[in-house]
Amino acid sequence: MTGNVGPTTSSDSQRASPEVILRLQGLTKYYGERLAVDGLTLEGRRGDVLGFLGPNGAGKTTTIRMMLGLVRPTAGEVEILGMRVDRDGRRALPHVGALVEQPALYRWLSGRANLRVVGDALGGVAERRMDEVIEIVGLRGRDKDRVDTYSLGMKQRLGIGLALLHDPDLLALDEPTNGLDPAGIAEMRSLLRHLAAADKLVFVSSHALGEVQQMCNRVAVIAAGRLIREASVEDLIRGQGLFVVAVDRAPEALAAIRARPWGETATIEADGRLVTPAPNGDSGALNLYLIGAGFTPKAMTPLTRDLEGIFLGMTGAARATAGTGDYI
Ligand code: ATP
Repeated sequence: MTGNVGPTTSSDSQRASPEVILRLQGLTKYYGERLAVDGLTLEGRRGDVLGFLGPNGAGKTTTIRMMLGLVRPTAGEVEILGMRVDRDGRRALPHVGALVEQPALYRWLSGRANLRVVGDALGGVAERRMDEVIEIVGLRGRDKDRVDTYSLGMKQRLGIGLALLHDPDLLALDEPTNGLDPAGIAEMRSLLRHLAAADKLVFVSSHALGEVQQMCNRVAVIAAGRLIREASVEDLIRGQGLFVVAVDRAPEALAAIRARPWGETATIEADGRLVTPAPNGDSGALNLYLIGAGFTPKAMTPLTRDLEGIFLGMTGAARATAGTGDYI
């Protein structure tokens, strides 16, 4: 059991590798003939805010529903802390808290009363735990007000509070920022980071790329039910291994680069700069090669792209090979 969210949790620096909380293995779902999730294999570790990113119809909600035991996989498995959800749901699922779509709230009751109703359904939750949860989700001072006076962001945070009452290890959130304004998104971001820092795994689906970039430390990108890429946000944005090079006689320099096996994918931008890989990813070697070939680079910088560009590139390619995956 993890500690409550707060300042007294253990630190990642004490562990070589944080514990795997969630493991999806070959997870597959057909709805009739329609393949919604296609052999998804993925791990989530304690302390991560893992973004689960994909366009509409990519299979995000279906995956989360399988994680929660609400949809039965056609093949493959979901493990939570080593326990299979299909075989051992009674032991596995108490470690999970979830918010799928809008939270179901009693609008005419206060936030605190909503927590109490759910707490009672869980078999009783101490008033102290409710105070903690109210503090965590930033509703202190408003907890006795009726929910129908809350902003959308406050309602979403109360929904997360309900999911946190039993202090789960894994928090699964389906599009929690849908409909929120920038202030609401910023509050959600700091809440999710705080939860991960308190040793939980936060698994958050989204198609809102800019938000994921700021909210998550890891991202799994899916399209048409398939995992396309899993990486840290930092690695996704940098580390593409491409460099932008400003050089005179750019078309000739491009031809010289493309003549090498490492440079076959080099391109030229509209502004005349080259975008190119480097031999073994080494910009120094690229520089030397160009100088040796008679082209002296005027500037060379690693290519950085925002997540949106990367995502559109990846999901576009996957859709081209796997059909659209959109809702019909
Ligand atoms: P969105 O962001 O639009 O919610 P998503 O990534 O969550 O999309 P899913 O809702 O999991 O995607 O849908 C994946 C695919 O499965 C879609 O093609 C969808 O039409 C289909 N699908 C989802 N639920 C069902 C269902 N109950 N019966 C039949 N098909 C379904």
